[in-house]
Amino acid sequence: MSLSRSDFDQYMVPNYAPAAFVPVRGLGSRVWDQEGREYVDLAGGIAVNALGHCHPELVRALVEQGGKLWHVSNVFTNEPALALAEQLVAATFAERVFFCNSGAEANEAALKLARRAAIELHGERKHKVLSAYNSFHGRTFFTVSVGGQAKYSDGFGPRPAGIAHFDFNDLDSLAALIDDDTAAVIIEPILGESGVVPATREFLQGARHLCDKHGAYLIFDEVQSGMGRTGSLYAYMDYGVVPDILTSAKSLGGGFPIGAMLTSSALAKHLVVGTHGTTYGGNPLACAVAGAALVTINTPEVLEGVRQKHQRFVAGLAAINARHPVFAQLRGRGLLIGAELTPAYAGQAREILAQAAQQGLMVLMAGPNVIRLAPSLVIPDADIDEGLARLERAVAAFVAAQG
Ligand SMILES: *Cc1c(COP(=O)(O)O)cnc(C)c1O
Repeated sequence: MSLSRSDFDQYMVPNYAPAAFVPVRGLGSRVWDQEGREYVDLAGGIAVNALGHCHPELVRALVEQGGKLWHVSNVFTNEPALALAEQLVAATFAERVFFCNSGAEANEAALKLARRAAIELHGERKHKVLSAYNSFHGRTFFTVSVGGQAKYSDGFGPRPAGIAHFDFNDLDSLAALIDDDTAAVIIEPILGESGVVPATREFLQGARHLCDKHGAYLIFDEVQSGMGRTGSLYAYMDYGVVPDILTSAKSLGGGFPIGAMLTSSALAKHLVVGTHGTTYGGNPLACAVAGAALVTINTPEVLEGVRQKHQRFVAGLAAINARHPVFAQLRGRGLLIGAELTPAYAGQAREILAQAAQQGLMVLMAGPNVIRLAPSLVIPDADIDEGLARLERAVAAFVAAQG
């Protein structure tokens, strides 16, 4: 059987535009393609492979659980799900956990829970959901509608009602929208897809205050910022602002699909038997892998390492920029880093990604103007240095190609 990138166009729904090469194997922060070419992986499967590829602890958990029990559905509970829930409750503000399979589903659950609780306690009027323009909460129709990006939500007919948008990091804009009919405000502590923009402390504290004043639930979407990504287990811990509901996915499974919604017992009690569910939620394989990921990541060594590696990346990016001035701003926290292109190169992040692939490097964009790095939280310093050397060659080739 010989498969290639052209088979994608032959057989797959054309909603993605994958790179020209096809990865076949990964180890740590290195990946190899069909031709045996090696890449340094600073993309991390979009902030998913938190422990790189084939981390021995995750492989062990997967193989061990794979020989025991794969799936039972929620007609039965299972030990890996119970263990993971217990770990998450012990490590966070949460008292109750709901498992699902992706970030979109975790947010769908969060939004449904917030509306359900608000309506049960205060009546049908209290169902408004507020979210930032250019935020990203997933691709179900409810979550794209909440996301506030027309390019993702238009063209599918009438959208769910009761959703309005404020400007990220603009407390006045949120204050102007929120009222006693607001059920929930959902915020990414770091805007991920839309350019890697950290929220300010004043904004998150102010949002908490406004939610309390109007009896609205504060939801933090930590699908991208969570699970050690910022150097804390969850970004809310950096800000000292505690949400009512938190959603987690991406790095939670270290590459195995899983999502989770975390909340208090007082809120959780509104999702009684039959009100919400998903067949695979709490799947034993997924929970066994996520449990191993959480134990491995939630240590002072790994989290401190994330902060140190952030410094190494930022220093390296600044050095590249000193020799080839293409970045207007470097931002982000921990190992979620954005490098915004100068106005002269605006809109050309995709070209840099293509040059990077030529140099044996996997990086991401976050919108057309921002190069995004979301590597393994345990990436060796030598791989950071090699990745940055390849990025510099890619940037140099990109600048040269501009003529
Ligand atoms: C990726 C992402 C999602 C969606 O997660 P999926 O697993 O793709 O459904 C939601 N919110 C944020 C902040 C994300 O980065």
